[in-house]
Amino acid sequence: MSDTYDVVIIGGGPGGYNCAIRCGQLGLKTAIIDKRGVLGGTCLNVGCIPSKALLHGSELFAAAKNDFAGLGIKMSGLELDLDQMMSQKTDAVNGLTQGVEFLMKKNKVDYVKGFGRIKETGVVEVDGEDGEQKTLNTKNIVIATGSVPSSLPNIEIDEERVVTNEGAIALKEVPEKLIVIGAGIIGLELGSVWSRLGASVTVVEYLDRIMPGADDEIAKEAQRVFKKQGLEFRLGQKVTGVERVDDQVKLFMEPAAGGEQETLEANAIIVAVGRRPYTEGLGLEAVGGKTDKRGIIETTDHFKVSDGVWAIGDCIHGPMLAHKAEDDGAAVAELIAGKAGHVDYDLVPSVVYTNPEIAWVGKTEAQLKEAGIEYKKGKFPFQANSRARTNHETTGFVKILADAKTDRILGAHMMGVGVGEMIHEICIAMEFGAASEDVARTCHAHPTMSEAVRQAAMGVEGWTMQM
Ligand code: FAD
Repeated sequence: MSDTYDVVIIGGGPGGYNCAIRCGQLGLKTAIIDKRGVLGGTCLNVGCIPSKALLHGSELFAAAKNDFAGLGIKMSGLELDLDQMMSQKTDAVNGLTQGVEFLMKKNKVDYVKGFGRIKETGVVEVDGEDGEQKTLNTKNIVIATGSVPSSLPNIEIDEERVVTNEGAIALKEVPEKLIVIGAGIIGLELGSVWSRLGASVTVVEYLDRIMPGADDEIAKEAQRVFKKQGLEFRLGQKVTGVERVDDQVKLFMEPAAGGEQETLEANAIIVAVGRRPYTEGLGLEAVGGKTDKRGIIETTDHFKVSDGVWAIGDCIHGPMLAHKAEDDGAAVAELIAGKAGHVDYDLVPSVVYTNPEIAWVGKTEAQLKEAGIEYKKGKFPFQANSRARTNHETTGFVKILADAKTDRILGAHMMGVGVGEMIHEICIAMEFGAASEDVARTCHAHPTMSEAVRQAAMGVEGWTMQM
């Protein structure tokens, strides 16, 4: 089989499939290749979607156990049906991956199942899932091959007891004791799921803080809250190895600063120490493509690897997030179609889907200090928000940072129930170059959690109406 396309996309995750849809809408003849046998990439199959399905189910289970009584709801006979929780997760995944396949058809994108390899500029070979070899000729190649979990030396992943995200969303039973290596977003979300379902969870982290990348004040408060929820933290610890003995696992660690080795025992270990770009066997070198020492594909600011070759999503620089990959994909489709396409990585929001959620966009206080930018801040606690009080959801706060001279919003950092939705009002404000006063003067409905955002903005102006 030989075909000629305007665009051939290698990788069917959020970067690849959004690029394909936009290419189809722009009238470009497009093919998308994925080796997984199903579209949706990491996000839909083993990342964002299954983890959120489990976070939602486990959050309701924990609420029924811990919070319903305080609302006057009496429960008896509460039980976990883990098989059903896993099966509703699988239903959510299947529904969405089938939806993506439908969107390919709707936008006249050819979906080729198999492993894609760049032979030369304009030529992609596919080792088809059906055993057939195909050659796709194309004016443009878009690399959207995503990322895979990183690991540490002396750790053998078996996806049964020593697991990455893939095994962690499919454990067959609730482990009595669980160790999570890595206190980043993925580790905290997956650790929270299993803690809510009954596991005793210890999070081991090399750094002396959780959530590197988050604002320090938020990270500190989040650690306090997660500790109260039952997560134990062992910070400043270097993991030196993991050993599986039958149905048990042992973790060996020593203080990052040096010192005595210690052994922790558990029934399972989740390794969540970050992700690395996936470019194995891709043939990047055939088109003059290069990776840096972390394996990130080097591109121009506008996604170009070389003439007619582009790269997007987790395999290039910028935050490893699905919505960033999606935006990269749409921007590249527009560039290929001769339009303007650009993504501002400073305005990509981050959300941690724990309870309460944590969300931020723009600069942290530490980043502003390091850059020598003078700023003002406004902060408002949910404890003083009427909706939070009625809902018994008073943990956390909203903090807004604005330029000391111009009042332009430079960053926002939030912890509280639903802040993963609330962050977007600040994203829009920042996209339009708003001042904190613009948010402070915008009428917000009462009683809503979002009033805390307005109050934090009013705080920047010195007008907060604290209770
Ligand atoms: P991927 O989704 O990794 O897709 C790449 C695809 O390319 C894969 O399907 C792979 O099979 C295919 N591929 C690779 N090489 C080839 C080849 N040579 N030939 C054919 N196919 C190939 N992000 C968020 O924004 N929000 C979240 O809540 C969130 N939660 C997450 C939770 C977990 C547990 C994990 C692991 C990740 C999470 N992420 C989240 C990150 C998100 O999943 C990624 O940022 C996103 O999937 C990146 O999209 P992508 O298209 O660049 O790559």
